[in-house]
Amino acid sequence: MVGLGPGDASLLAPLARTALERAAVVAGYSTYLDLVPPELLAGKEVVATGMMGEVERCALAVESALAGRDTAVVSGGDSGVYGMAGLVLEMLETRRLLDRVDFEVVPGIPAVIGAAALLGAPLTHDFACVSLSDLLTPWEVIEKRLEAAASADFVLALYNPRSRRRSGLLERALAIVARHRAPETPVGFVRQAWREGQNVRVATLGEADPAWADMLTIVVVGNASTRMAGEKMLTPRGYAGKYGLE
Ligand code: SAH
Repeated sequence: MVGLGPGDASLLAPLARTALERAAVVAGYSTYLDLVPPELLAGKEVVATGMMGEVERCALAVESALAGRDTAVVSGGDSGVYGMAGLVLEMLETRRLLDRVDFEVVPGIPAVIGAAALLGAPLTHDFACVSLSDLLTPWEVIEKRLEAAASADFVLALYNPRSRRRSGLLERALAIVARHRAPETPVGFVRQAWREGQNVRVATLGEADPAWADMLTIVVVGNASTRMAGEKMLTPRGYAGKYGLE
């Protein structure tokens, strides 16, 4: 299971590169395969399918590993963060293959970390990631988690802010957060972080427009202490109060 990082080849971890070099078969959603430097795919069997073929694609990867071929399943970011690592491990468990297939996860920089770096330092205190995708998780559960994280003053990173089938999810999510945060709270929208078409935009919670986000965007909502330091988002950890930074 290989995490590719947010997209730029310079952020592909050396260990991930080695795993891809070693692999005979590389499987992944085509958008993610596009992030793999072409020389790492040359001469390999590539298993690419559309988003709805996730289970089928992972099953093919499991078959290939069972046949003794070194197989890499790639995900954007990290494969354990809303990625394929859990699905493959669950499949190996269900099919009683845990002792026949070596399962290994090579970490990658997740989108939340890539996006935070572009925004400044918004995650210097406790933060929570919530995916707004209601494909596999009922919306009521998502709302409950948003409510809990917002009321506990976590900085929030919202993954999958727009669903293909339902727009308006981000609007509802931001409305929940707004019950617990001031309208001046900074909100960062990062689209295509560390990829072609990268776009970074920061607004206040009161003025942020959910329409700025699409499926390629991650949204970072500050906590009660988050503020702007020049153009950058800053969530202070408390050093200034304790030590004085003059
Ligand atoms: N495994 C990935 C997450 C996959 S879920 C990770 O570790 O980050 C897909 C969602 O991730 C997208 O809808 C978007 O919200 C976010 N995402 C992934 N890559 C991104 C990027 N380069 N820029 C902004 N958001 C990204």
